[in-house]
Amino acid sequence: MSIVIREVKPVEIGMRCDECGEGMMKLDVTEFGAMVVPAVLPPVYRHKCDKCGAVKEFDTTYPRIIFENHGEFREPDMGDLAEIANSAARC
Ligand SMILES: [Zn+2]
Repeated sequence: MSIVIREVKPVEIGMRCDECGEGMMKLDVTEFGAMVVPAVLPPVYRHKCDKCGAVKEFDTTYPRIIFENHGEFREPDMGDLAEIANSAARC
């Protein structure tokens, strides 16, 4: 076994508001920073438009960051290995 690495590119997935067509839906949180999760199954996540305040529930959260693969796996060089060691120390 050996460690291999590849670059990834972060991509933000947002949900534009249907009501005003301008704002973005943001996960609604209480004044204590807790998610507003209505007591239904399957779970839904309440969102609020940052422009007009429209409220809508989704089965996932927005905005959300995903990582797109960007290239092939390769052997890490010395600099990469130092970074890997540092990241392990932070965990
Ligand atoms: Zn809106």
